Amino acid sequence: MISKQTNVVILTGAGISAESGIRTFRDSNGLWENHRIEEVATPEGWQANPQLVWNFYQQRRRQLLEVKPNQGHEALVSLENHLQNFLLVTQNVDDLHERAGSKNLIHMHGELAKLRCEVCSHVEEMMEDEHLQETFLSCSKCEGRLRPHIVWFNEMPMQMPEIEKALSECDVFIAIGTSGHVYPAANFLHMARRHGAHTMGINLDPPENVYFFDEFIQGKAGEILPMLIEKWTQS
Ligand code: NAD
Ligand code: ZN
Repeated sequence: MISKQTNVVILTGAGISAESGIRTFRDSNGLWENHRIEEVATPEGWQANPQLVWNFYQQRRRQLLEVKPNQGHEALVSLENHLQNFLLVTQNVDDLHERAGSKNLIHMHGELAKLRCEVCSHVEEMMEDEHLQETFLSCSKCEGRLRPHIVWFNEMPMQMPEIEKALSECDVFIAIGTSGHVYPAANFLHMARRHGAHTMGINLDPPENVYFFDEFIQGKAGEILPMLIEKWTQS
């Protein structure tokens, strides 16, 4: 199914990081680490209680120092190295894909490792000890308050034009570890299909949009991806 010339776009979600010990959303009844999504993942939540939201993301940021990429992340690096045209789009805000070695990567929902100025929008990676505490931090350019560099619900995902272009050109689209509930990512499958791509889903539970995939493999990303990708990269 895949040769060196095949143009591949991959979409990953929280499921690919589950085997590294980062909890997904849906597996905890729509709560994210015991918080309602509206409380910690919307601009309104930030306005209503910035300290609670800040503490929540500082916890998620500190957790990055305790986890490491798994075999699923690593297999995607082998696939990228084998192909001429490859794009990995992740909904994840952790940094496990880049730590595994993925290069052509878009974080459409932002990155925990970075903070953004509310005033001048300056973005900076800040992961030193002094950046991971409960006191707010201010911008090195303008002293404005920093917020998580995260796309909250009701905010615009990042780099959508690039993603849409890649979807319109790909031969194969593979969604991994994503429940198919969160838009616009859940639509990528349909966009790729419309342009004639072969579509594949890999997920622990059947996702919301399971019937639209040409192929669906149920199971753990960390077990399935190494086997599949070894087969593809040997041929
Ligand atoms: P989701 O939590 O809605 O769904 C995760 C899916 O992964 C589920 O369908 C589940 O069956 C599947 N899954 C669980 N373990 C798996 C495994 N080992 N292998 C394969 N599949 C597995 O996640 P989503 O679709 O990514 O959407 C939720 C949103 O939550 C995203 O926008 C993301 O920004 C945010 N989020 C990110 C992280 C992270 O960065 N690691 C963690 C939690 C939530
Ligand atoms: Zn600033």
